[in-house]
Amino acid sequence: MNKLSAPRGTFDILPEQAAKRAHVDRVAAELLEGAGYGRIETPSFEATEVFSRGVGEATDIVQKEMYSFHDDGGRSLTLRPEGTAPVCRAYVEHGMHKLPLPVRLYYLSSFFRAERPQAGRYRQFWQLGIEALGSDEPEVDAETIVLLATILRRLGVAAVRLRLSSLGSPDVRAAYREDLGNYLREHAGRLAPAVRERIELNPLRAFDSSDPVTRQVMAGAPVLLERLGGEDAAHFAEVRGLLERAGVVYEIDPTLVRGLDYYTRTLFEFTSDALGAQSGVGGGGRYDGLVEQLGGVPTPGIGWAAGIERILMAAGEMPIEVRPPDVYLAFEGSPSNAFETLTSAREAGLAAQMELAGRSLKGQQKQAERLGARYFAVVEGDRVRLRDLRAGTEETVARAALVDRLVAV
Ligand code: AMP
Repeated sequence: MNKLSAPRGTFDILPEQAAKRAHVDRVAAELLEGAGYGRIETPSFEATEVFSRGVGEATDIVQKEMYSFHDDGGRSLTLRPEGTAPVCRAYVEHGMHKLPLPVRLYYLSSFFRAERPQAGRYRQFWQLGIEALGSDEPEVDAETIVLLATILRRLGVAAVRLRLSSLGSPDVRAAYREDLGNYLREHAGRLAPAVRERIELNPLRAFDSSDPVTRQVMAGAPVLLERLGGEDAAHFAEVRGLLERAGVVYEIDPTLVRGLDYYTRTLFEFTSDALGAQSGVGGGGRYDGLVEQLGGVPTPGIGWAAGIERILMAAGEMPIEVRPPDVYLAFEGSPSNAFETLTSAREAGLAAQMELAGRSLKGQQKQAERLGARYFAVVEGDRVRLRDLRAGTEETVARAALVDRLVAV
C-alpha cells in the first residue's frame, strides 16, 4: 500500500510548532486588540468572483494560483488565496460602513495558492493580517505600518527591512501604466518573454523580473513615484514623516510592486535578510477602490498580511508556554480511585494527569518527572502518598483531602 503523506506544499503543525504559533498569536492579539482591532474570520472558500473582481483578473494569483472548483449547483468557488478581498466582502455584506469608522479588523487564517513549493513557499500557509476601513488619513497608513514593525520586533524577527512606495490615485496610476506600456513596447526585443507577454495585462510586474537584460531596460523605465501630484504627494510625505517620528526606518523603493491589483497610494513590504530567496515577511498597502469594486459604498482602506511561516523562520527561539502538570496521579491495581481524584483535581483548576499506559510504579514516577510535574501522588485506596518532586519530600494524606491540599500550594 502507498504510504500516505500530506499533499505537496502542505505540512502538519505538530504540538511543538503549534506552541510557537500560539506565542505569535498571543503577541499579535495583545497589540492589535489594544489598538482597537477586532478579530474576523471569513470562510475558507468564497465565490470565485470575490477574487477575480477583488484581487484582479490580471494578477498571477487569479491567473494561475487559485484552487477553484465547482459545487453541486455549478457555482465556481475558490479556496481563499488572500484575506483582503474576503474581509471587504464581509464589510459590505454586514453593512459595517454604519459602524464607527475606521473599522479595524484582524485575522489569523490559512490561505491557499497553487505555487511551486520551495523553502518558505507553500500551497497552504498562514497569514496574520489587518485591515482598517473607512479612513484615508495618512495616520492610518502610518499606524498600520508601525503595528507590523512592532509585532516583528516583539517576535524577534531578524534583519528586517521596510521598503515603501506610493502608487498614487487610480488616474495617475492608469496614465503611468499607459506610458510604461509604451516604454516596454519600445524595448520589447530586449525583454524576457514572460515580461513581454504581460505588457498589456500587467506592465508593472516588469519591475519584478530577475532577468538581467530586462533589469537593464527597467533601470531606464519611467518611475511612478516621480509623478505623484498634489494630494497624493502630500499624503505620501505625511506618511513618511509620521514613520520617521515613530522611529521606523524605511527605504523608498519606487520599483516596489506587489502581486495584487487593488493597491492605491501607500505600498510597503517588510523583508528579512535572514531568509533566503523568499524574503518577504509581510506587506500591504492602501486599497481605496476595493470596497466599491466589491459592491459597497466608496470606502478607503489599508491593510497588510504577514506570513506566519516566514516569521517563524526569521525569528529566534520562541518561548514555548506549556503548563506542566501540578500533579501526576499514580496507582497500582484498580485505576478508579485515581480517576475520581483526577476529575476532582481538574474541577478545582489543577493541571492533572494520570497514568494511562500501564507503567510500573517506578515507570510512572519517571513519566511524571519527564512531564515536569510538581507532585507525584500514588493513590492507595483512600490514602495518597504525595511526593513533592521539587523538594524531594513525601507525606501521606487522606485521598479526600488531596485536592484541597494541592490547591493551597
Ligand atoms: P501577499 O499576500 O502575497 O502579499 O503575501 C504576504 C505575505 O504572506 C508574504 O510576505 C509572505 O510572508 C506570506 N506568503 C505569501 N505567499 C506565501 C506562500 N505561498 N507560502 C508561505 N508564505 C506566503
